[in-house]
Amino acid sequence: MGLLDDVVQGIGKEVSRVQARGQEMMQSFNLQTQLRELEKKKTGKLLEIGRLVTDKYVRGEEIAEDVLKDKANEVAGYESEMQVLQAELDSLKVDTEVPTSKKAEKSAGFHTSPGYECPNCHAPAARDKAFCPSCGESLKRPSSSSSSSDDDVVDVEPNGN
Ligand SMILES: [Zn+2]
Repeated sequence: MGLLDDVVQGIGKEVSRVQARGQEMMQSFNLQTQLRELEKKKTGKLLEIGRLVTDKYVRGEEIAEDVLKDKANEVAGYESEMQVLQAELDSLKVDTEVPTSKKAEKSAGFHTSPGYECPNCHAPAARDKAFCPSCGESLKRPSSSSSSSDDDVVDVEPNGN
């Protein structure tokens, strides 16, 4: 059966996608941790330089140029390391717009009912679903705009007593 195969295949794809996403998130977490560490080191180094420069110019202390140069180079080193990590982090950025469950629902063969659409966004919707797959609008509420008699409503929803 082609349909079932599609569904199973869709779910399988989704699972491996979620796993890859998990790895990416872990990797991005590590990168962010490293970036924070570097930021701390860089800030510490900048404070050191500031202290030395202050001592030199305000208190007239002897501070060798080379000492300042070395520290400035260390700051530059941290910065270029951070740039590399940041670029890596940016390349990992995955879209977080649509929740995975919604994508899973779509790729696992979400079937719409012909001629049935969401009253809110007019996306194709399924008669047997409670909510619009596109905007999340509830599909079960009675249409209030209909001027015809209630008997003409084609919805098959069980309407109580
Ligand atoms: Zn909708």
